[in-house]
Amino acid sequence: YTGKTSLSYISEKIKKIKVSDIKSVPVVVDEAISIYDAIVLMFIEDVGSIYVTSKGLLSGVVSRKDFLRNAIGGIDLNKMPIGMIMTRMPNIVYVEPEDSILDAAIKLIDHEIDSLPVIEEDKEAKGYKVLGRITKTTITGLFVELGKND
Ligand code: ADP
Repeated sequence: YTGKTSLSYISEKIKKIKVSDIKSVPVVVDEAISIYDAIVLMFIEDVGSIYVTSKGLLSGVVSRKDFLRNAIGGIDLNKMPIGMIMTRMPNIVYVEPEDSILDAAIKLIDHEIDSLPVIEEDKEAKGYKVLGRITKTTITGLFVELGKND
């Protein structure tokens, strides 16, 4: 008997799971597309947040609340590009493939956000490529897997 509680056993197990093990496919658009088109895409792809790139590098995130806030403002959704309303770099909270899933979950809770882009630095281009996403649903799915497994 190791003297370990079952809670610390679960904790050890979770810390070994990496972001790259369970990341999902992100929805990514260029920051020039209109707010209208981004809203349509959000419905079609059934996601709550979309990642935005400029020249293929991460430049922002746009979520349901960003659309609602601007819809109330009464702007022209067809003319306004997504880049006008998104949350911009360097204010994006992200994770890297080798980070533990626990660190990702802590970021989601601490920053009160629904998703994190999984990124890879492109040193030459001086920016970040988007490789995937981790969402609250990803974490819930993992919780269910771990719960069922014992
Ligand atoms: P929702 O709008 O559906 O509640 P969030 O809670 O994720 O979704 O988003 C709340 C705010 O945080 C929005 O303004 C959004 O642009 C911003 N946001 C979302 N994800 C991130 C992130 N990974 N890093 C920084 N800001 C984010």
